[in-house]
Order: sequence, then structure tokens, then C-alpha cells
Amino acid sequence: MAVLLDPHGRKIEYLRVSVVDSCNLRCFYCRPGNLCKPRSVRGQLSRQQIVQVVAATAKAGIRKVRLTGGEPLVRKDIVEIVREIAKIPEIEDLSLTTNATLLAELAKPLREAGLKRVNISLDSLDGRNFEQITCGGKIQATLDGIDAAFAAGLTPIKINMVVMKGINDHEVQSFARLTHDRDVHVRFIEYMPMLGQDDLWQKHYLSSREIMALCEAVEPMEPWLQEDLSGPARNFRYQQAIGRLGFITPVSQHFCSQCNRLRLTSDGKLRPCLFSAEEVDLLPTLKSGEDLLPLFYEVLQKKPEHAEASPAAQGSRCGPRGMVEIGG
Ligand code: SAM
Repeated sequence: MAVLLDPHGRKIEYLRVSVVDSCNLRCFYCRPGNLCKPRSVRGQLSRQQIVQVVAATAKAGIRKVRLTGGEPLVRKDIVEIVREIAKIPEIEDLSLTTNATLLAELAKPLREAGLKRVNISLDSLDGRNFEQITCGGKIQATLDGIDAAFAAGLTPIKINMVVMKGINDHEVQSFARLTHDRDVHVRFIEYMPMLGQDDLWQKHYLSSREIMALCEAVEPMEPWLQEDLSGPARNFRYQQAIGRLGFITPVSQHFCSQCNRLRLTSDGKLRPCLFSAEEVDLLPTLKSGEDLLPLFYEVLQKKPEHAEASPAAQGSRCGPRGMVEIGG
């Protein structure tokens, strides 16, 4: 089977596919103010085009696909997208990142279509705080979605919390305690300085070291070294706990040397790195039906050895993009 290596010797086998750049929540930190162009301006890949890109990258060496957005579940054809990608023989792992608000309805059909597991973004366990962070979202929909994901067997379930000082850091310990009796992997993610968010970031950034100290204050943690949680997190658990804790440090301690991913935006641009301004437009080649592989190799050559988590880096020749548009 083909192996995709970048110029720095990293094996690239993971493609993050943003299927849509709109979202049904409006988390205040995820959108770069009015810099986001509406989807109608950028256009959006069709289901066939998404599947075509994944199939071609699979031939080149991609083995893992994660669907994201925007909110991937707002796409009406998300179950079909999953079904078609799941049929690509080289793809060994197909997962999805979601706010779970639509998962109560969709967990079972997605599982039946071939989805293996989900990462769920949840920044508060308190209804009022959730509403404030998401600008009006209702927490119950997400909680129902989490239950549905368990019932459908979309496991192991990872719950991702972006920790922000003065916003939700007082809830870190409640999230950590969830692992006592639920088989969840709670991951605390450092708030990254995305485009147009300098002031917010300065005010609310909290390092993983500080987040870990909050978790340690609940009770001592021990390292969890099992392979099944491969990814950028450093993993721990409380001694008697069922679930696990993970700490992801894109700002305080980058993990570029282990990076194995490329990103596809919902408007058809292949990006070598979240924090690189480089991207290659696949759309003309998709339309003409020519071979996509030369473009993958072009993007691969542009993959930086290291990119600083900095807002300046995130623009592109197509204009600035926020996390909601690149795909988190
Ligand atoms: N809508 C889906 C969801 O909520 O999971 C997928 C897309 S969302 C952009 C993916 C993740 O990016 C979410 O967990 C969100 O919290 C995270 N994210 C957005 N902006 C971020 C930032 N500045 N720093 C760290 N994580 C961020």
C-alpha cells in the first residue's frame, strides 16, 4: 500500500475533511467576527467531489478520515457522505467531530452507515454558561446527542473542552469528574489564537499546565499510555476512574513533529497545516476530471516542519479564514 511522506519525513495518513463551513451554534471564539465570508461566496464541494478527493488521497496513503466543519451534521447528505467514504477500502478509521446538537437523531444512521466514533465539542456543563458561549445554544440537545452516541456504539467517545480563563475554567473539575463513572475521554484543549481574536485570546488563554493543576487538585492523576487513544493528547486517569483525561497543547507545547494530517476545506482547498497560509485549490482539477495526485504532492511539499500557532499565519490567497471555515 502507498505511503505518503512529507519532506520532513513524517508519514501523512490522516485527512480532516470539512464538509460545510456553516454551523448551528455561534461559539464566540470560533468565528473571526465579520471576516467570515458567506458560504454562497466560497461555494461548497458536492458529496461526489468530497468522496472523489478522499478516494484519491486513500490511493496515495491516507488511512484515517475525520469529518468536521462548520457543523458536519447540518449537511443534509452527511449520512450518505459517511456511507460512501466508509466503502473506500483503504480507509481504516472514519470519525467525526460535532457539537452533537443533531446527534440524537443521527447517531444510529451514522453508525449504520459506517462511522466508527465521534469527538464531541462541549465547553460547559452548565446550561446558562453553554448558552452564553454558544450565543444561544441549548445544552440539552448536546447531552441527548452524547447519550445517543453511547447507545449507537460510536465509541470511544471523546469530549473536547476548549478551556478559557474567566469563561469556563471554573468548570474544569466538573468535566474531570465526569471520568469517574462514565467511559469518556475528556480532553482539555488550549485556546488557540485564531484570526481576528488577538484581544480575546490574550484575555482568556490558559495553559495546559494550569489546567492540569486544576485536575490534580481533584485527586492525583496517573499517566495513561495505552495505544488506543493515539493523537496529540497527553493522557492520564484518576486511579479508580472509568474514563480518561487528555491535555492538548497546541500553544504551550506544539506537536508538529508528530503531525500526520492534511486538511480539506469545504470549498475544495487542500491545506498542509492549520497555521499555514498555504493552500491548493482542487476544484478546477475536480471539475476537469484530471488526476488529483500531483496536487496532493504539491501540498505535501508545502507542509511546514513547524508552524507557530499565530493568527498572522492563517490567512490564505483566498482571504482570511476562521476555524469554522478551515475545519477544527
Ligand atoms: N462543529 C463541530 C464541533 O463543534 O465540534 C466541528 C467544527 S469546530 C470548528 C471544531 C473544534 O474547534 C471545536 O471543538 C471548537 O471548540 C474548536 N475551536 C474553535 N476555535 C478554537 C480555538 N480558537 N482554539 C481551540 N479550539 C478551537
